[in-house]
Amino acid sequence: MGATAARIDGVSARAYVIPTDKPEADGTFAWTSTTLILVEASAGGQTGLGYTYADRSITDLIAGPLGEVLKQHDAMDIGAAWIAMQRRVRNLGRQGLASCAISAIDGALWDLKARLLGLPLALLLGRWRDAVAIYGSGGFTTYNDGELRDQLAGWVERDGCAWVKMKIGTHPSDDPRRVAVARAAIGDRGLFVDANGALTVKQALALAERLARDAGVLWFEEPVSSDDLAGLRLLRRRAPAAMEIAAGEYGYDADYFRTMLSAGAVDVQQADATRCGGITGFLQVAALCDAHHIDLSAHCAPAFHLHVACAVPRLRHLEWFHDHVRIEHMLFDGAPTPQQGAIRPDPSRPGLGLAFKRRDAERYLA
Ligand SMILES: [Mg+2]
Repeated sequence: MGATAARIDGVSARAYVIPTDKPEADGTFAWTSTTLILVEASAGGQTGLGYTYADRSITDLIAGPLGEVLKQHDAMDIGAAWIAMQRRVRNLGRQGLASCAISAIDGALWDLKARLLGLPLALLLGRWRDAVAIYGSGGFTTYNDGELRDQLAGWVERDGCAWVKMKIGTHPSDDPRRVAVARAAIGDRGLFVDANGALTVKQALALAERLARDAGVLWFEEPVSSDDLAGLRLLRRRAPAAMEIAAGEYGYDADYFRTMLSAGAVDVQQADATRCGGITGFLQVAALCDAHHIDLSAHCAPAFHLHVACAVPRLRHLEWFHDHVRIEHMLFDGAPTPQQGAIRPDPSRPGLGLAFKRRDAERYLA
């Protein structure tokens, strides 16, 4: 069978639960572990991998109904397979867990197709750039000042990041002090904050003014719930000019992004390919951003995003999220390492450029 015809002949899914290195929290959630769902899809003697961070329950959906759908498709025809998967979950609700499942599978299909063709995925998609700027992300509200300082300074000093992001919103009255600690740790680098939707519009506006004035904060992510498009839009209009409003990490389909963009709710659109329909879904979001003249920033899972982030217009940067960087380096050979604040695909490795370290992962298998 040649590379232009390879029927998908296997789809598997496994869940791995990896404890965090310390307890972590943001403005609206707290956690002590992260669940990685690994998907493998095979055709023509090759195997592709994709993944998402979600609940272990989706392994049944991936290996069962979605896997059955895929076996009717050729590995070259990802668009047809993607639509068939969307239709298969129609009655379950396409958003949320179903979209995470499809996202991980779609990643595996793109990895598989690129491997069948012997190409890095960025080359198969077509590059706009050969490296992607990253910003360090963590700064959890569970950290003491020393932990916050060390983590943020590490991204600047070790990885060369031009920007770093910290969580706020768990105890809003403490945030100006925490942000001052962060500012002192990173010198003149860009400082971002993320409230994960914890604040009211007025709380957020007052904090935006104070953090811009006292600490030069450039980016306020989910100051209010990302479902409050009117609130986001108001903050976008009223926040200091040098401060951008960002949201979008909970977008699962193109309609979500169309609605957020057409509401004028964000200065920079965020999207997560492990949730929004995989590489295929991320390409759709990028086209919407381009049509709305809004920059795009990739949310988390940096190794998954690296190649597609090289292949879309208006890509601002990619989130170098502490938990996911740690997991990707623990469990994937080929996970990217920053140089001077950017990561780049390895041209010698096909597909996503990743190999799963099955033996190292065994102890985390759910
Ligand atoms: Mg966020």
